[in-house]
Amino acid sequence: MTRDQALQLLSIFCDRFLPDFGTYQDAMTVKSWSVFHARISFALNVKLLSPSEVIEAAVSSWKNSTPAFEFHQLEGFVRQIAGWREYMRCLYWSHMPEYAQMNFFQHHRKLPVWYWTGQTKMNCLSHAIGQSLEYAYAHHIQRLMVTGNFALLAGIDPDEVDQWYLGIYIDAIEWVEITNTRGMSQYADGGLAATKPYVSSAAYIDKMSDYCTQCHYVKTLKTGKNACPFNSLYWSFLESNREKLIANPRMTMMYRVLDKMSTEDRNALMKQAEIYLSQLDDL
Ligand SMILES: Cc1cc2nc3c(=O)[nH]c(=O)nc-3n(C[C@H](O)[C@H](O)[C@H](O)COP(=O)(O)OP(=O)(O)OC[C@H]3O[C@@H](n4cnc5c(N)ncnc54)[C@H](O)[C@@H]3O)c2cc1C
Ligand code: SF4
Repeated sequence: MTRDQALQLLSIFCDRFLPDFGTYQDAMTVKSWSVFHARISFALNVKLLSPSEVIEAAVSSWKNSTPAFEFHQLEGFVRQIAGWREYMRCLYWSHMPEYAQMNFFQHHRKLPVWYWTGQTKMNCLSHAIGQSLEYAYAHHIQRLMVTGNFALLAGIDPDEVDQWYLGIYIDAIEWVEITNTRGMSQYADGGLAATKPYVSSAAYIDKMSDYCTQCHYVKTLKTGKNACPFNSLYWSFLESNREKLIANPRMTMMYRVLDKMSTEDRNALMKQAEIYLSQLDDL
């Protein structure tokens, strides 16, 4: 990529995608690999674009738009760069090199083989990994709530998760990769980057995407042969890490739901999770 191409990408984003950025920033679909995202992280990270010029271009596009687009579309974009990106940079420089060794949950499982091929029956993962292998790109929610979410629920070693993200994405440069992966997505830093682990069952993925409708697994099933693995793994993750998470006020509601389940239901969920954890490569 050249500086001219980077500027062209920024200009296309401001004209065509920024007016809807905020509305669709968390959406995932099989119909598009970048949705309304800017695809400028590589250009920013290798300094073909500066954060301030990107923000100035976006603000100027908002000011000059006719008809005007809503302010929250602009705000959603600017805060990613002036907020998250700068925050990650500070986190890296204030906590390395210790950050690279952190493993709050003491997770030690191996990454399933299909992370390197996309060959899994879980449509969300197959799609997010497939496009990552093809374009070296996935947008934030795919990285956080699909590939990252599954790795955390399955108890994968953060070293393995880091190596995968570093190897796969075109924008992966250590200071911004490790803080997002080990910190925000795997909570291996015990809460320096995020206030709670970003984990979810199938309900969130279904709400934000069209993945579940074409999946081998059934999003609403928690146990049984075709039950969506995210469901039992989610509750088993909470149960296994109860001691570490129970005091976190942002987790209280989920533990309440878990504790209200009958012993029979809870045991069935834990058993289902054990089955899936014992055959991760075959999911
Ligand atoms: C597990 C995980 C790993 C990630 N690894 C990387 C990485 O190696 N390199 C990288 O640049 N980003 C990383 N991110 C952040 C984010 O996913 C990418 O910056 C974004 O997807 C790049 O696509 P885009 O340019 O279309 O972003 P847009 O959604 O259009 O956002 C615009 C810009 O905001 C910045 N931004 C948004 N979110 C973040 C964030 N959480 N941290 C830092 N900057 C952000 C990026 O510079 C991005 O280009 C990671 C996120 C997660 C959850
Ligand atoms: S049903 Fe489960 S595995 Fe399938 S796409 Fe939905 S969340 Fe992913």
